[in-house]
Amino acid sequence: MLCFHHPDYHYPLPEGHPFPMDKFSRSRALLEDELRGARFAGPAPAPEALLHLVHSPGYLAAVRDSRLSEHDRNRLGLPDNPRLLDRCRRETHGTLLAARAALGEGLAANLGGGTHHAFANRGLGFCVLNDVAVACAVLESERPGLSVLVVDTDAHQGNGTHALLRGRPGRFSHSIHVGSNYPSAKEPGDLDVALARGVEGPAYLAALSASLEEALARSRPGLVFWNSGADVHRDDRFGQMALDDADIAERDRRVLAATLGAGIPTVVLYGGGYNADRRKTARLHVETILRAAAYPR
Ligand SMILES: [Zn+2]
Repeated sequence: MLCFHHPDYHYPLPEGHPFPMDKFSRSRALLEDELRGARFAGPAPAPEALLHLVHSPGYLAAVRDSRLSEHDRNRLGLPDNPRLLDRCRRETHGTLLAARAALGEGLAANLGGGTHHAFANRGLGFCVLNDVAVACAVLESERPGLSVLVVDTDAHQGNGTHALLRGRPGRFSHSIHVGSNYPSAKEPGDLDVALARGVEGPAYLAALSASLEEALARSRPGLVFWNSGADVHRDDRFGQMALDDADIAERDRRVLAATLGAGIPTVVLYGGGYNADRRKTARLHVETILRAAAYPR
């Protein structure tokens, strides 16, 4: 299994910033220790021409030059930093490279990515670039006719991905999330499942299975991007779901059965994770990657 990571996750955030940037370095260290036989690679920044397939030049320049307005910076939720765009270009490239690897080997992961709140001309909710949308756009020319399904089990709606994939032939965007949580303005997707705040394992898993079956039947994918999301955990600060460790293991098993179990090349992405215990956030992401790697193929 090939895992992509960012060579430097230590993008400095102010003391007390809610985004747990350390989850990337923590989880990478754990996986390098525990994921036997895996290969790890650090992507170069995605070429700008590829970003332009999705994002507007003005927005990219504003991020690069730290010229976002205060309003735009606030809704992104990340402070200006000269390294921000470079970091996000590497993260986006990791998702594209993982897609190519998955198409060849059946499974690959980006130890990050799933930045599903980013739109063409604005970043939201810690998401600067929409990695899945960029990868999908590149695959349009590299693999014409390839049907792609996005399975988004992050606790928040994948609004940016929904908007960016809408109307694109061969692209199907699924999201199962808390309905009355961030983002407040939802975007219509190909398949949305809005659950109640505080949803627990049994109700979640029943809704997940039904939606996976429908998404697969309607999209008949040749590739799946799975934005897994660790923020479904009951101790997450932002997810507003109440899944415990066993529920998340069962979530992963059901997604993997529907994707890898059906022989569909699959890319696993992190998505969000903001557990009250920062080490737990990394551990949850690690467990999902380990389950994917161990899934019989
Ligand atoms: Zn989330």
